[in-house]
Amino acid sequence: MGNFFASNHNRKPVLPERVLPEHVLPELTGPYPSVIKTELVTEVNSDVTDEVKRLGDFVHLTSKAADVRNRYTPAKLSKHTSFIENNMQTLVGKVGEYDSMLSSKELLRRGSSYSGTKVMRPDEYDYMPILANFNTNTVEVEDVADTCYDWYRDKGYGYIKVKPGALSIRHNMKNTRYNRFKKYLCSVKLFSELRKLIIKSLQHMDTLTFIGVRDHENTNAQYKRGEISIHRGMHGTSFWLRVGGPLCTTDIDLCFSIEGNPTEQLGPCLMVNGETDKDKCECGYSYSQHWMKSVINPPVNTKYVLSESHMELFLTLKYITHLASEMSHETDPETLSSYTVKMVLLTHQQTCKAVNVGECFMDIVRRIRNDKDINNLHIYSPKYTHDVFFPERVLYLHKSHSRAAIAWFMFQVSHTEDDGWIHKLLRLTQEPHTPKWWDKQLSKNDRDSRQLRDLMKVIKTCDSWHYESSGYDQLRLEWYHRDGSVKASLTLEYK
Ligand SMILES: [Zn+2]
Ligand SMILES: [Zn+2]
Repeated sequence: MGNFFASNHNRKPVLPERVLPEHVLPELTGPYPSVIKTELVTEVNSDVTDEVKRLGDFVHLTSKAADVRNRYTPAKLSKHTSFIENNMQTLVGKVGEYDSMLSSKELLRRGSSYSGTKVMRPDEYDYMPILANFNTNTVEVEDVADTCYDWYRDKGYGYIKVKPGALSIRHNMKNTRYNRFKKYLCSVKLFSELRKLIIKSLQHMDTLTFIGVRDHENTNAQYKRGEISIHRGMHGTSFWLRVGGPLCTTDIDLCFSIEGNPTEQLGPCLMVNGETDKDKCECGYSYSQHWMKSVINPPVNTKYVLSESHMELFLTLKYITHLASEMSHETDPETLSSYTVKMVLLTHQQTCKAVNVGECFMDIVRRIRNDKDINNLHIYSPKYTHDVFFPERVLYLHKSHSRAAIAWFMFQVSHTEDDGWIHKLLRLTQEPHTPKWWDKQLSKNDRDSRQLRDLMKVIKTCDSWHYESSGYDQLRLEWYHRDGSVKASLTLEYK
């Protein structure tokens, strides 16, 4: 494969993508404090172009239409959420009954379903059970060594040392690895124990029917209510369950964690790890002994919390990313995670002086491209952003389907005066569809479909890059001035 999909570092990292929490957001208005805003509104407002206004309107409209809370009644949503939550409480409780060492003291609710950022359907829930018996009496978190690989050094990783005599011999054997007279918790061992107990618990749940270990990545089968399966591997740092819920088939990430030392600036921390190989780091310990800090309750300020208009943009970008995946014929299209999109937005927010969120949309496109020329974009080169909680951590943005679709929307919305196609699209996406359905629907020769056919071309071009056997298609789309000269172009090319 060419460098577009090349690995970014020598080894497979545990990306913090779906692990770090999103928060319940306070009522903030505008992208920056209101004092500055008043001045800027009078000063800059006249400079807002029609292109920017159209993008801003699109963001307002799309974020409302995509927000799961505007698509289901509160009663239906709450019934669905209770079903998922109650079953997870029971599951985690059973695990603790089978082995009290692995009991959890709390099941933290995390992720988009709890932070008001879920789009389309309530089909993803995230929980962090906190293991009760790995606490300050039994374990101690130490910073990783200076000799660690760059991926771990100074990026908020730690070893979890087991205090002498704190665990029974049986639990020491099961959960730790021994290095130079110290015992450190090993996630491969600990999680293999947890996996056995999760499966045993699922087999004995009264309210659920366990249908086995499945490959969740390569299927999107719909489950009957109460059917539940577990993914064959880890999902980042989490166990990945899939359950038939009252409203839809729902994915659940269960990220078992251990209380860590609080960070001075970021507050309380949990340690998480989803390593599945036992290879060794330069420091001499296996990767499975390098635990990652995850912030659970960071300070509420503009550095860590999105403003209201940036929240709208977040939902809009998630909608586009979702749509690109739905239209793709690949089973595993190149999709930016919600966490990465949020980090790009938070990074943007730190310097945002926009009066209209349309300008923010343009800046986000700038940030996920390498091109400086916003009017003639080329999509091929990998780019990265930083985690705002741990700035030394790098998040890669080389996700072609999402990046190409986001760029296409920016051009299409800003350079098209007639917005009939947007309303048509929002109507069509009220229900989920297969790529085949989209092909058929868009082959109808009506005016509003013409724009959406271009989007389909963008997605298919990215599909063609996914496997070498299908060849590498190229695509160039152009938008024109009234006199017919080229105003903007988007080139998709595999290099
Ligand atoms: Zn190391
Ligand atoms: Zn902004």
